[in-house]
Amino acid sequence: MHYLLRLHVLTLLVCLTTPLIASTMRQAPNWAPGLAREAARAHDSQSVLAELKSALYSDEPQALMAELLELEKRDNLPWPAREATLLRFMQELRFLPAGMVSVEAMAYLAAWRPRTLVPNIHQPSIGEPLYKVREAAAGIQNGWRHDAAVNAGVVLLREQPLDFLGTWSSEPDPATRNGLLAALSEGSSSGIVLVHEQAMAELPGNPGVTEVAARTALVTGDIAALELVVRLGEGASLVPALRRAAATLSPAEATSIIARLVDTAPAAKTALAIGAWTPLLSGDSDAETLLQGLLVDEQLGSVAALALNRLHSPQVLTTPSVLESGAVSNPRIVTWSGDSIADPDDDLLSLGYPVPIPVDTPLPFDGFRSYAGLLMRHQNLAETTAWIHPAEIGSTHSGRTVWAYRIGDEDKVTAYGLPEPASLISGGIHSREWQGPEVATGIMELMVEQAGDHYFYDYLLENMNMIVVPVLNVDGFLQTQRFPSTNWYETDPFDLEDDPQPSPRDGRMRRKNMLGVDENLATIDDHLLGVDLNRNFPPLWATGDSSSPDEESLIYHGVGALSEPEAQALVEAAELGPSSHLRMYTDLHSFAQVHFWARTFNDRLTDITRNVMTTFSNHHASFPEGRYYGFGSGQEPGVGAGFAYEYFPYELGTVSWLTEIEPRNSCCWDPPTAGAEYGGVVENGHDGFILPDSQIRRVREELSQSFAATYYQMAGPPSITAVHFVDAATGSTVFEAGWHVASETERELHVFETQALQFDREYRLWVSYDKPMRWRSGGQIAPFPGQAGSTLDIEAGLFVNDSSLNILLGDVAWLDTPGDAPSGYQRYRDDAIAADFLIPLDAANGDLVSDTATINLRWSAFDMTGQESDADPSTVARWVGGNWAGYEDSDGADGDIGGMDRTINVQLTREDLGDPFVLEAGMSSAWYDPTHNGEGFMLEILADKLAVMYWFTYDDMGKQDWYIAIGETRGNRIVFPELSTCRVAYSVRNSTRTRSPGKWSVQQPLFGRTATTVP
Ligand SMILES: [Zn+2]
Repeated sequence: MHYLLRLHVLTLLVCLTTPLIASTMRQAPNWAPGLAREAARAHDSQSVLAELKSALYSDEPQALMAELLELEKRDNLPWPAREATLLRFMQELRFLPAGMVSVEAMAYLAAWRPRTLVPNIHQPSIGEPLYKVREAAAGIQNGWRHDAAVNAGVVLLREQPLDFLGTWSSEPDPATRNGLLAALSEGSSSGIVLVHEQAMAELPGNPGVTEVAARTALVTGDIAALELVVRLGEGASLVPALRRAAATLSPAEATSIIARLVDTAPAAKTALAIGAWTPLLSGDSDAETLLQGLLVDEQLGSVAALALNRLHSPQVLTTPSVLESGAVSNPRIVTWSGDSIADPDDDLLSLGYPVPIPVDTPLPFDGFRSYAGLLMRHQNLAETTAWIHPAEIGSTHSGRTVWAYRIGDEDKVTAYGLPEPASLISGGIHSREWQGPEVATGIMELMVEQAGDHYFYDYLLENMNMIVVPVLNVDGFLQTQRFPSTNWYETDPFDLEDDPQPSPRDGRMRRKNMLGVDENLATIDDHLLGVDLNRNFPPLWATGDSSSPDEESLIYHGVGALSEPEAQALVEAAELGPSSHLRMYTDLHSFAQVHFWARTFNDRLTDITRNVMTTFSNHHASFPEGRYYGFGSGQEPGVGAGFAYEYFPYELGTVSWLTEIEPRNSCCWDPPTAGAEYGGVVENGHDGFILPDSQIRRVREELSQSFAATYYQMAGPPSITAVHFVDAATGSTVFEAGWHVASETERELHVFETQALQFDREYRLWVSYDKPMRWRSGGQIAPFPGQAGSTLDIEAGLFVNDSSLNILLGDVAWLDTPGDAPSGYQRYRDDAIAADFLIPLDAANGDLVSDTATINLRWSAFDMTGQESDADPSTVARWVGGNWAGYEDSDGADGDIGGMDRTINVQLTREDLGDPFVLEAGMSSAWYDPTHNGEGFMLEILADKLAVMYWFTYDDMGKQDWYIAIGETRGNRIVFPELSTCRVAYSVRNSTRTRSPGKWSVQQPLFGRTATTVP
């Protein structure tokens, strides 16, 4: 044993990292939105607009900048009027060539300090700009860079085509990359052929060139190459490529490509091809046969089932003909376009990146799934894994089922016999916020993928009941997907007259449910109707400014609290917990990259909520993109608007918040935000709802992990489950204590002591917890992502009364190999720690122990998220009324912080007791139950630390049942890793047995492990 430290109270400090701190500048609002709009409307700013325009077109290069500075001084015009005018003026800039506007003026606009700050609807203390001048400026510059790149790309294709791929690959700016790609549709065809050959040659070793390879394959009509691109490529360009290819493929060609992909490509790629080409396959009997054959395929079965379903009952996602027949021009229906500049007279709105169109496929990919694809995925996970349990929680106005899924094992009891805590998350309460359903589905996918890790995720699956409602507002979600690029424009009665950034409504931009709305977008009378489900909840329904009684308002609250069936369904979902076990709720929205929340009158709940959101945000910020989800001080207690995230803390006492998924959309963070973050042109600030396909995989996968972090935290504070002291020389366990669950609120300590500890003798201390306690990075213990190094600290010591003994400490290690005490973890990797130590009989220790003394083990550690252990495991730490109960601190006081466990007492003696009892070869013994003839067991200790056990018992039917186990002796213990039945032939015949007959056909482990201690 190598002694590392000589300490009174040993404190293990491992690697300090700086905790992440939210650094978000916030400004208070200075305008009510209605008053701001009125102020803008009331003042005639036409002359200002005219002056800006004349400065723009003047020959004097400094004129525009001078005019902009002048605008700042026009105190006769209120700020809303000035900023609205500025935005109107800027709408004209995007149609000009880049060189026409001075660099200085654009830089000035891109750094604009917003002056009209209106209260955020969730957190009125936070001001956000009513007029997004910065975003518009960033978008205009993106558009210019895009167009410049198109021109540069065309030149490159003509003059140096072999430089094209390298230029594109090394370009970091998304707008420029998109522009270069667009050049491939316009440039010299001989150049494109060369780029194509180069990209295809690189593709096998570099999937990063997928976009160029796909684009050139289509431009050159190289279908064989396209097939290769689908097989080897990656990213968001596959789906658009497949869709464009569909225009030139015959059904027979598509079917044969799919057939080849089945044999050669990863399932997810084949799934994409099937999803994207399903409409093309209609009526093709070979396709039908192929898909029928795939139904039994483990990975593609659900893909084929969905495609067959579609072929037999086709559903058209986009219905442009319906729109045309509507023949509405102004107010009008507009279409989002991926171009950087689209002509507004053609009823187009430019986005600057490809408009995501959902794909009918269940498997996750770089893009958005249709509702049918998501639903198939959820149901398939429920059918094919043990971890997803579906439940119908209600139905929509149109009679569609609203589904919830419980993630976890079958029962609602933890691995330790306690009631499982529950969490709830919902997506798609607002139809157009497509990020939410993907992230909710991502949580299900993450848990299923990680199951079997004997670690973090198995802990969650076996000890939490995680409820997911992937799509709450099913009708509305379907309406947005039916018209994935189309919506009404300039029809919102709450918009400013001649609003520079009008609110798009219905179609892709539907937010509310479909109460009173038909599915035909062209009908004008109903397109503003529907209830904002996130204004329909008690207890603060119809209060506050951000909820409206006007049925045409975007935030119409409905006729009464919980009037809407979808809102009722969410309340019902909590019962899957059941609601009495629910500890947390999160509502998934987009966009803003923040959390919104409401304080209740329970300050403890407020603190815990803040703490859990911090865990989430720091965890998420630790990903390479470093995106931090800020959150403010929360709504004042008693103040609200009928949000879902108010219902849960007020009615059920849960931690609760709303997560607005990226992009950002906030006052004073560095631009660009909204669509400009991804190279978008921000012609309309609502483009942030349209997250590009290229981002959703990252968003889905990384947010899921951050939510898992919060589930781990709310699963409960750590609690010691067992403590062993093992004699190092003999391997004998001299002391063992274990906390056994006695009821839902209590544990009992079972102690088994064979010999007192002796001075100057080496021991191993083993302590286990009821959750995995340490995160590892590359196999090494590391702070959990986003957590401070101090969460790795352990404070421990051995005490006589209140005086600590000197101890010599050897190796200390968290245990990530199985095997239980004294060197393995108990149930989950890193749920146990072992420390080698010796108590020297020095003068100080000798003063404390004159003969034999009771010594007290004091031990404190934090879990991965920094929750300190429950100081008193005898009362189960649990969630009651919005805070923890039975969670004691070091002084034994019930609270929310935990403390040092002092519940374990051991004897220490100065007497020389010699070696403890050990098992030795040749020992054997037999036990029998005198009340039960033929029941008992025999032990034989063999050489080489082997032991054998025979167990004679009866099965459930009263038939004799014999087992045998080979074990390993450890000092005075025998550990049997497996128990096998001895009665092969007999058991197989008896199919009436209540235990699974299949398990009896061969000698096979029945119980995980059994251990026996022999005194
Ligand atoms: Zn929302």
